[in-house]
Amino acid sequence: MSTFPLLRLPDAEVLQDPEILESYRFDESHLAGDLPLAVVKPKSREALRELVRLAKSERFGLVPRGAGTGKAGGCVPTTRVVVVDMSAWPGEIQVSNQNLTLTAPASAWLRDVKGTAEAANLFYPPDPNSWPLCAFGGSLATNAGGPNACKYGMTRHWVLAVDALMADGEIHSFGIGSVKANAGPSLTQMFIGSEGIFGMITGATVRLIPRPSECLTLLLPVAHFHDLLELPGRLCASGFLPATFEFFDSAVLAELRKSGPEEARRLPGQALAILEFDDRGCTSDAFVSSLTEALGPLSEHLQIAADARQRDQIWNLRRLTSAFLKERHPKKVSEDIVVPRTRLPDFFKGLATLNIPAVTYGHLGDGNLHVNLLGAGETEPAELERQVMDLFKLSIHLGGTLSGEHGIGLAKRQAFLALSDPGQIELLRALKHAWDPLGIFNPGKVI
Ligand SMILES: Cc1cc2nc3c(=O)[nH]c(=O)nc-3n(C[C@H](O)[C@H](O)[C@H](O)COP(=O)(O)OP(=O)(O)OC[C@H]3O[C@@H](n4cnc5c(N)ncnc54)[C@H](O)[C@@H]3O)c2cc1C
Repeated sequence: MSTFPLLRLPDAEVLQDPEILESYRFDESHLAGDLPLAVVKPKSREALRELVRLAKSERFGLVPRGAGTGKAGGCVPTTRVVVVDMSAWPGEIQVSNQNLTLTAPASAWLRDVKGTAEAANLFYPPDPNSWPLCAFGGSLATNAGGPNACKYGMTRHWVLAVDALMADGEIHSFGIGSVKANAGPSLTQMFIGSEGIFGMITGATVRLIPRPSECLTLLLPVAHFHDLLELPGRLCASGFLPATFEFFDSAVLAELRKSGPEEARRLPGQALAILEFDDRGCTSDAFVSSLTEALGPLSEHLQIAADARQRDQIWNLRRLTSAFLKERHPKKVSEDIVVPRTRLPDFFKGLATLNIPAVTYGHLGDGNLHVNLLGAGETEPAELERQVMDLFKLSIHLGGTLSGEHGIGLAKRQAFLALSDPGQIELLRALKHAWDPLGIFNPGKVI
């Protein structure tokens, strides 16, 4: 393809400098993609219309990109594609405190979406640990989860309506700004978690709730992380639903303490959980004492964050864990399997028998674990594949799946195709064909 047709795009920045293109080969996964033909930052419907027309006539794919923090290689370029960087897409964040909704363009930062809701004393719960860094559009396209999915569910639970560029080159609106809408099956939800394979999200309306007025943040140090594994199920059965229940196993905690920032040196325990409650009354003595009772002997070393500063310190440490491990083990492979919370003990028993050298941390409360193969760079490729496939099979065998939140993208595509019900893959491919007959949106991803 010559560069000429793209340069004629109206209302768009077109980047073709090789150094810039090089930086778009990556996201936060371990993968590197091909060099894209170009990077386009569209600013109007006309730009998108023309981009789709060119993609069809010149036969190139369109790879949507938010902030590039994805961990599944979803926005890394495959062969003969143009990366569509949505960061310049116009629009403002608007809150309706009567409808309890927020509307924002795909280009908005998720931190601004959450911050705007908060400024209106409202709450948009989705909180991937990358929330200070990722785009609203990317969080929708990946159906991002995060620590508080334990109580509030993933992004899709909050999405009411979506505007999306479709294969006809037009932006179509799906859904309405109301919690009730039942005029036929929901096409809106097809975009959430679709990783850009059905079309490109340009904006969305999400549901808000009143902002919780209380917050109790706890550090629960234990002698061994196995002591924690039955706790998520036991707490739920006793009527406690933490907003978040995160954990570090002994190896991750030891590494953080040894080489992490100053505050990490003071983290207590051999293994550690972070629990947070935001129920009304959760900061009362009565709540804390009944929670202590439910925790039983585990509560012996329980610590309560004294103020917002301590809470922020704890969350900063939790949020930096992924980047910290990646910096120290640049070739690590990080998986994000999930099992029902009651199967956590079986998962770790199974992992021990599979001879997989892994460390774990993550969202224990909802069974979503970041299993990190730190030595992946030094492991024979065939052995690494064996380890990853065994890990996925174990999760599926226990009623879980191979990704709890990061999605499939390019990184897990082969495993997804190999381990899924063939009937479901066929159906997904038929849907992809119906929505995008020429396969221009994010080719080579997911299916
Ligand atoms: C430190 C760190 C912590 C993280 N923690 C979490 C976590 O707790 N939970 C979690 O779920 N994820 C987490 N992630 C992964 C990632 O940040 C999230 O999935 C995030 O929501 C992706 O947003 P993004 O804008 O960076 O998307 P990108 O990486 O740019 O894109 C991700 C996918 O969405 C598609 N896409 C992007 N924008 C659009 C659009 N407008 N229309 C259609 N498709 C689009 C891309 O093609 C790609 O397939 C973490 C990542 C990092 C680096």
